Amino acid sequence: KLQLQQAIAKAIEEKISGDQRRYLLNEQLKAIKKELGLETDDKTALSEKFRERIEAKKDKCPPHVLQVIEEELTKLQLLEASSSEFNVTRNYLDWLTVLPWGNYSNENFDVHHAQQILDEDHYGLSDVKERILEFIAVGKLRGTSQGKIICLSGPPGVGKTSIGRSIARALNRQFYRFSVGGLADVAEIKGHRRTYVGAMPGKMVQCLKSVGTANPLVLIDEIDKLGRGHSGDPASALLELLDPEQNINFLDHYLDVPIDLSKVLFVCTANVIDTIPNPLLDRMEIISIAGYITDEKMHIARDYLEKNTREACGIKPEQVEVTDAALLALIENYCREAGVRNLQKQIEKIYRKIALQLVRQGVSNEPALEAVIVTPSVEPTDGGSATIVKDEKLNDPAVKDPEEAKEPSLKETLVTEPALSTDTLSTPEGNKDTDGVKEEAADKAVKKVLIDSSNLDDFVGKPVFHAERIYEQTPVGVVMGLAWTSMGGSTLYIETTKVEEGEGKGALVMTGQLGDVMKESAQIAHTVSRAILRDKEPDNKFFADSKLHLHVPAGATPKDGPSAGCTMITSMLSLAMGKPARKDLAMTGEVTLTGRILPIGGVKEKAIAARRSSIKTIIFPAANKRDFDELADNVKEGLEVHFVDTYSEIYKLAFQNETETS
Ligand code: ADP
Repeated sequence: KLQLQQAIAKAIEEKISGDQRRYLLNEQLKAIKKELGLETDDKTALSEKFRERIEAKKDKCPPHVLQVIEEELTKLQLLEASSSEFNVTRNYLDWLTVLPWGNYSNENFDVHHAQQILDEDHYGLSDVKERILEFIAVGKLRGTSQGKIICLSGPPGVGKTSIGRSIARALNRQFYRFSVGGLADVAEIKGHRRTYVGAMPGKMVQCLKSVGTANPLVLIDEIDKLGRGHSGDPASALLELLDPEQNINFLDHYLDVPIDLSKVLFVCTANVIDTIPNPLLDRMEIISIAGYITDEKMHIARDYLEKNTREACGIKPEQVEVTDAALLALIENYCREAGVRNLQKQIEKIYRKIALQLVRQGVSNEPALEAVIVTPSVEPTDGGSATIVKDEKLNDPAVKDPEEAKEPSLKETLVTEPALSTDTLSTPEGNKDTDGVKEEAADKAVKKVLIDSSNLDDFVGKPVFHAERIYEQTPVGVVMGLAWTSMGGSTLYIETTKVEEGEGKGALVMTGQLGDVMKESAQIAHTVSRAILRDKEPDNKFFADSKLHLHVPAGATPKDGPSAGCTMITSMLSLAMGKPARKDLAMTGEVTLTGRILPIGGVKEKAIAARRSSIKTIIFPAANKRDFDELADNVKEGLEVHFVDTYSEIYKLAFQNETETS
């Protein structure tokens, strides 16, 4: 027993002396380090750091903030360095001192300068640019541009974000972007309370920290897709942030001292404006961008996208030529959507492939390349003619390895000439006349890639869209309508067929992922068609006796909205009377039970969509005439537009013209 006691006492003694030893050594180490100047006392070092930071901003920093910082610094000294509270305080001080209190970038209200920058970055969009310039002009007169929230709305890829960036550049403000799409946690905007583990300030405070100025341009993306919060409403938190009346004293939960956001310029982006919470919408100035027509896309591709991509790939302008025909084919067959982001991707794809081709041929852009390119100056318009195929040769006599694998359909012809072998690349059509071309091409050593509509496939694959039009001429029961979605405008067909016939069988089934509104509008259309048919052909018992099936392709895309009303009536009437609707006609408009046509949204988008599908005649509600008249001329050009108030006018246009002329 005694022995056991002794053993325990010994063990304890050993442990204690071990601990003591370690402590002692540690302290000595610290003292030595301090002596050597390697490390000052942690706490003092920290306070010093914070003091230094805030010293620089002292005159601009609001007094209440200085006071809080002072208090926190004192607290820091009293806390044990290993306590969790110490960490919290340290982080807090870190945030407080790092913010750009009162540090503003010099705003540039020069309208000419702004115009220049906007034009430099974006093609077209003149109305949008004009609105932005107006805004800057007001800023100049007032001396400040606060108090407005701009909201850019439009389909994806039309340049909303990049315009935001341009405005920042024009105004000489820092740019910061964050997305609120699907945001459900109010803390993302307002910050957490400091007592939470891992608490963080909200996005806005993070923004100020990262940009380092108190007047950045903040782009809030996808404001139409704001989530629903479980605790607290993100929309009202955002309102607190954006509203010029409220944001002078924006209070972040983490920061706990009010910050002045009134100098921040907010620009929001949205695909549609109907889903933006109303109080927010109220305070915004909406600028809508509808999307681009082919002609505009050509310019954007030529002057902006191609240039940027070429530079990004390190390819020299003289090493590549993309013909107009190829570009047009690319736009019309691959990139039909409203925006240009996909177009940009395709162009990038092409240039990446070109880069690979050039490198495989041993082209290196680093040393000054002196390849003088001589090409026949025939501008191909018909695509793939023999002349084009000639300068398509990528001939580099010095290189022997065949460049296959990447360009599957580019055939390789090995020609043995004295001491060199030439790899000849040509398109399938070009193969027949390679013989005549090779000598000429070989001595030119043209290191140039030519892309034309004939070899476009090799670069971007087969066309994605064959046509938006399923029918060349719409058969009986099928009519083209115009739709508007958050992705821009598009054409869609409404198809109606008869399922069965029999006395009193009149009914309607619907398919095509229609929403409630659209289903109702089909019912309305059914009723209205019946009334019209009774009027036009009193003996026709079609609707009373036939079960109809109405379908809207494509079946996988959900659709909703009332604007297909008049199209549905036309489709049903066409079936009932056995007459196809007039060729190349598309229409849009909501219909009431009495056959009046109500206005619809997205006029510009729909007009663009109609142009894309080469529709000649469009029917719009009369109430939309103003919207249409305001459109740019290049959108309106070549369209025959009828504005109607009642369905009977559509009836005349769709069915009677046809019979009269034929
Ligand atoms: P969004 O935010 O509307 O979805 P982005 O701003 O990201 O679209 O634009 C996609 C790309 O298209 C960007 O690279 C942008 O530079 C380019 N772009 C869009 N519109 C134009 C235009 N009018 N001129 C030149 N480039 C454009």
